Amino acid sequence: MLRVLKRLARLLFAFVTVGAAALYGLYFRRAPLPPAAPHARAVPVISTIPGISACWVETAKTFSSFSFGMTAGSVLVKHPAGDLLIDTGSSSHYDQEISGFPFATWLKLKSLAGQLKPKVPLPDLLRRIGEDPEKLRWAILSHTHLDHSGGLMDLPRLPVLLTREELQFAADPSVQAKGYVIAAHTQKFPPVAAPTLRFEPAPYETFDESADLYKDGSVIVVPLRGHTPGSVGIFVNLSPTRRLFYVGDAVDDERGFEERAEKSLILRDSDNDMTLANQIAGRLSELHEKVPGLTVIPAHGRSAYKKFFPSGPLSCVSGQ
Ligand SMILES: [Zn+2]
Repeated sequence: MLRVLKRLARLLFAFVTVGAAALYGLYFRRAPLPPAAPHARAVPVISTIPGISACWVETAKTFSSFSFGMTAGSVLVKHPAGDLLIDTGSSSHYDQEISGFPFATWLKLKSLAGQLKPKVPLPDLLRRIGEDPEKLRWAILSHTHLDHSGGLMDLPRLPVLLTREELQFAADPSVQAKGYVIAAHTQKFPPVAAPTLRFEPAPYETFDESADLYKDGSVIVVPLRGHTPGSVGIFVNLSPTRRLFYVGDAVDDERGFEERAEKSLILRDSDNDMTLANQIAGRLSELHEKVPGLTVIPAHGRSAYKKFFPSGPLSCVSGQ
């Protein structure tokens, strides 16, 4: 009996050790990237817009008691000129959406983004913070991957802001075949020939182009081409001192810009252009050093959200 127990203990120990080593290699082990070439900063003048606030609408989470916990969902910007949803998390029909893919693709989608399926549909969460989904003015996607666009399937139809590059990427059959973009989601996007987001040659912070959504300096979009060709980052300026920069999947988590850590092995495959994506991580790291008061929020980096939204999910922060 004792011998059997010992053997079982040894087996368990081996299992845990192999598991931990695999997890370390696949997720935690990330080499530092080279720094970006220094870039001049165009310091924005920021005023506090009365009535503006930002809310954290978390649709899913994993390992939430650990520093490396992941999250998915939306940031809602309440603005007197109409409310904006930044990203939408996965669809509540995620499992059906991925069911038709070949086994290897299905397994990848099931084990990665599949961990971040919404438990409560996005519109229900919005109602809990007093937002009528029918009254949203527009949504902007950091990029068109399924775990950012899927929530559109649960929402009433609304204008979705996307660049031509990103619409072309999402419409590409080879991209859809990999499972990163779901054909049904693209039906919610504007036509490829009629993009809804364009950049002006107006420098903003360390970026050469930008788009000022409300024309009042409160929400500024900049290109972050790399993870996908039309990936964007979104600055939300509630006041001169309360600012967030939502960077989608440009980096996995805060380590991406704090340590300039490359993407984890398990998530690297999702970068459409790894060289460009790594350069963007360098740029974000440089910006973080220059503007330490700006809270950079990677789409899945739960610890970053907690810094900006200390009261947790379904809470809002205002400029005043
Ligand atoms: Zn993602």
